Amino acid sequence: MINLRDLSLEETERLVVGLGQPAFRAKQIFQWIGKGKKDFREMTNLPEVFKEKLSEKCRIGGVETAAVQKSVKDGTRKYLFRLEDGNTVESVFMKYKYGNSICLSSQAGCRMGCAFCASGKNGLVRGLTPGEMLSQLLEAEADTGEKIGHIVVMGTGEPFDNYENLSAFLRIVNDKTGKNIGMRNITVSTCGLVPGIQRFSDDFPQVNLAVSLHGTTDEIRASMMPVNRKYPLNVLLSACREYTKKTGRRITFEYTLVNGVNDREEDMHRLSGLLSGMLCHVNLIPLNKVNGSGFDTVSREKAAEFQQFLEKKGIPATVRRELGADIDAACGQLRLGQSD
Ligand code: SAH
Repeated sequence: MINLRDLSLEETERLVVGLGQPAFRAKQIFQWIGKGKKDFREMTNLPEVFKEKLSEKCRIGGVETAAVQKSVKDGTRKYLFRLEDGNTVESVFMKYKYGNSICLSSQAGCRMGCAFCASGKNGLVRGLTPGEMLSQLLEAEADTGEKIGHIVVMGTGEPFDNYENLSAFLRIVNDKTGKNIGMRNITVSTCGLVPGIQRFSDDFPQVNLAVSLHGTTDEIRASMMPVNRKYPLNVLLSACREYTKKTGRRITFEYTLVNGVNDREEDMHRLSGLLSGMLCHVNLIPLNKVNGSGFDTVSREKAAEFQQFLEKKGIPATVRRELGADIDAACGQLRLGQSD
């Protein structure tokens, strides 16, 4: 059974024409999908016989809400979604002044193995399909009754480790017949898979790119992020410079501050040195607690000190707001399941 949420408008067209219907029916279906409809009976502008045929070949699904936690502080909601194969992923709905945003997972689990992150603790299960990524957004819209205009692919998983499905999802969600979410309202965050960055600059120059940096020497970065052994700092940063040369776009560098690991005076100096002259922005994230990781967080004051130092050096920097901390919905706290 084909999941209609996996299909682009063109693919839906091919399907529809293959079933002996005029191509414009695809547009109608695609619109219903974008509105979050899951039941063919609700697609009131389609002929009954066609709907029957469609439902023999296709389904509309991806994820089912298994649990919702609501922050009493800031309107953040964390979802535990069950995939059709029984695996689970988490997503976070956030309210900002500029509108609602969803932080989506791109994989069930993760194989990147960052030492301070909960998402990779049990390794990778599998990459999510485009429909499963779209479904996280549609289910959150249905639950909140609110429109979501911004997407950050910063949940569980490494998006560039699931490149094909990620790009199919981005095209579907951007299509003006469907959700019509602007490329500039989408941010994809990578731990630094260099070939992914290169491909992405060709395929999606309008989508915002965030790169997890976290360390200012290869030794420190590799101790936190195994990916640094494959793509060390100089390789990563030259790919980032290349990215900006090609796209003209500013990169956001995420820098999670960990007590005694990457928060010292010399780190601050090296960080500004590494990034000087780059078109970039630094997003400082005081480490969020992950049970058993053995890492400690830093104070908001320490983060502010880093921020001011970078700003003084001409590098725009902000400290990430801590949304949903009371429900463990912050960066690095999303996991494969609830029990681990
Ligand atoms: N795999 C992608 C997407 C995850 S984005 C990436 O690595 O960029 C989530 C962001 O939160 C990343 O910058 C990640 O390094 C960071 N993060 C992970 N665990 C964290 C923690 N415990 N506290 C704060 N930030 C964390």
